[in-house]
Amino acid sequence: SREIRLASRPEGEPQPSNFELAETDVPALGEGEIVVRTTFMSVDPYMRGRMNDAKSYTPPWQIGQALDGGALGEVVESRAEGFAQGDIVVHGLGWRELAVLPAKHAAKVTPIEGVSNSAFLGVLGMPGFTAYAGLLDVAALEPDDVVFVSGAAGAVGSLAGQIAKLRGNPRVIGSAGSPEKVAWLTDELGFDAAFDYHDGKVAKLLQDAAPDGIDVYFDNVGGEHLEAALFAFNTGGRAALCGAISGYNGNPYGVRNLFLAVGKRLTLRGFIVSDHADRRPAFLEEVGAWVRDGKVKFRETIVEGGVEAAPQAFIDLLRGANTGKMLVKF
Ligand code: NDP
Repeated sequence: SREIRLASRPEGEPQPSNFELAETDVPALGEGEIVVRTTFMSVDPYMRGRMNDAKSYTPPWQIGQALDGGALGEVVESRAEGFAQGDIVVHGLGWRELAVLPAKHAAKVTPIEGVSNSAFLGVLGMPGFTAYAGLLDVAALEPDDVVFVSGAAGAVGSLAGQIAKLRGNPRVIGSAGSPEKVAWLTDELGFDAAFDYHDGKVAKLLQDAAPDGIDVYFDNVGGEHLEAALFAFNTGGRAALCGAISGYNGNPYGVRNLFLAVGKRLTLRGFIVSDHADRRPAFLEEVGAWVRDGKVKFRETIVEGGVEAAPQAFIDLLRGANTGKMLVKF
């Protein structure tokens, strides 16, 4: 089986040379374990942090060792009760063709008719749940809130904006990195307004899109976007600080107006989705129904080519090559 290992740590933008493709023996199957053949693997922005040798909420990847991350696959062999050949599972040993793991570290998925199983890595998986928990619990969405979502054409952002619309919020604004993405937000996903953040100062673009201010900010980007949201917030505004991708390759933009949080009585709350596991059943019920009924729209940018295509897919994700969830197909 082939796997991707960390060859070196990047400075700035990751390069193909930071990754290495290696052949490895598949270990013998122990009691309670399963062998899973990867069909889709997720590349996610948080993985950039795992390339650094720095303490964080997930441990750094180690040089010379296989990478890991979200993946979906088919059980090809099982020595675990309740798991049989042909079962579809989500697990955390991506970046490899075959994964051997304790079955308790895998979650079986129940396929939905007419929906690709890859959805369980996106809209019905970790990114979708991040949008749900972040918007409803962390930002504590209220019905009349004007909502601003950055990174709005990505996996998390595209669902966050749609949840606000489906919950009946009057005005949802998104930002993204290209005219095509902006058009997708307003023409297909139901955002009330959207802008391309390359078109000027984010603070000005946001002010034009939200003349009466914003009440909730779902922050995927950080930096200049967060600074703009602080200016645009109404009194009592709430931000769910989900990510800060504008700074992941280093040299983050310094937000200069944090003091506005005082007079506006803002709540700025960071979160990590895994801390909200108790809300997963509610998420699967509500968003699962919307997906089944076609009320939530979602896109996947699927890179063909299997394990060896994964490093470039990850590099391209950080550059915004994706609309919706970025996945690698094996
Ligand atoms: P996306 O699908 O949104 O992909 C990343 C996107 O980021 C790109 O498509 C690109 O879109 C955008 N981007 C890249 N560079 C910049 C930049 N300098 N400024 C603005 N946008 C940029 O990824 P996800 O939906 O998986 O993740 C979105 C965010 O959520 C990330 O910050 C991630 O770290 C965070 N996250 C946090 C979790 C948590 O538990 N807190 C869990 C999961 C994700 P564009 O073309 O618009 O620039």
